[in-house]
Amino acid sequence: MKEQDIQAIHQLLSTPKKIAIIPHRGPDGDAMGSTLGLYHFLLKNNHQPVVISPNEFPDFLAWMPGSETVKIFEKDKTNCITILEEVELVFTLDFNALHRVGEMEKALEKLTVPFVMIDHHQSPDNYAVVTYSDTVFGSTCEMLYNFISFLGKKSDIDQTIGTCIYTGILTDSGSFRFPKTTGTTHRIIADLIDLGVENTEIPSLLYDNSTYSRLQLLGRALQNMKLLETSKTSYITLTQEELDSFNYIKGDTEGIVNYGLSIKGIVFAAIFIENAEEKIIKISFRSQGDFDVNLFAREHFNGGGHRNAAGGKSEVSMQETVRKFETLVAQLKL
Ligand code: 5GP
Ligand code: MN
Repeated sequence: MKEQDIQAIHQLLSTPKKIAIIPHRGPDGDAMGSTLGLYHFLLKNNHQPVVISPNEFPDFLAWMPGSETVKIFEKDKTNCITILEEVELVFTLDFNALHRVGEMEKALEKLTVPFVMIDHHQSPDNYAVVTYSDTVFGSTCEMLYNFISFLGKKSDIDQTIGTCIYTGILTDSGSFRFPKTTGTTHRIIADLIDLGVENTEIPSLLYDNSTYSRLQLLGRALQNMKLLETSKTSYITLTQEELDSFNYIKGDTEGIVNYGLSIKGIVFAAIFIENAEEKIIKISFRSQGDFDVNLFAREHFNGGGHRNAAGGKSEVSMQETVRKFETLVAQLKL
């Protein structure tokens, strides 16, 4: 972080304020971890923070400290708009373009108070007075740890804040496996464990909470997997009908895309998930090595993300979406 940005944050936080903290729509472990971590930090520093999520967060994150205080914009619009109209400062975490909050974008655009962005995605938009944005980091939670440290407040990081930060680092690094995991990442994790963060319990809360129907859905997804071997690519489809038949709830498809990439020789994997209510096919892309799925998602599927993990959407049928994908993949040199 630049010295002048640190000074600007000191200035912004010099008196107690009402502060909104916003994750992206469809918040994941890093979005919830960073917003709740910041929430506890600001609370400790005599501010009045509130986390407003654009939509529901997945059940497997409901154990996180402070999650019971999170307001859900799409469920409680009038109340959330009233809160937003009263805040004096807004933090946006784990995203860098306001359209990532969906319907909430309009409400945010109306605000005249300063915004602060903390994020690790490529090509940040220019809406914040302080933009702490850096793609070298594997998670926004790792950046939040630095952010608090830059403010000279590292000693404020306690077990609660640490639990939130740990969760985001763990989930966004694929349990410390993805390429942006560094020695520094592990040193932060070591610090957090020394603070009492439950490093065996948290992965269990996140990942050992499956249900029979979720595993059955996984089974169907794996059976639906197609291999495009000459293109070193695999993809999975799940229709709304299939989701319904396995009593799908939010979060059930989390991580399934990675199975495609676990096949020896496969460097590009995708999953296409129908959302009948929103009339879209939601897509996740993963790659191993140099192939940039962020660019692929931006160019062809109205999305974005990181080099090795990105997402997008399609507004045509599953069949047409898959046909388009296969045509594009055939032209790639993977
Ligand atoms: P996931 O596939 O886990 O939903 O997302 C992987 C990465 O891509 C995340 O960093 C997420 O922020 C980003 N991403 C997912 N969907 C979209 C999208 O529709 N648009 C953009 N710009 N990024 C996305
Ligand atoms: Mn993230």
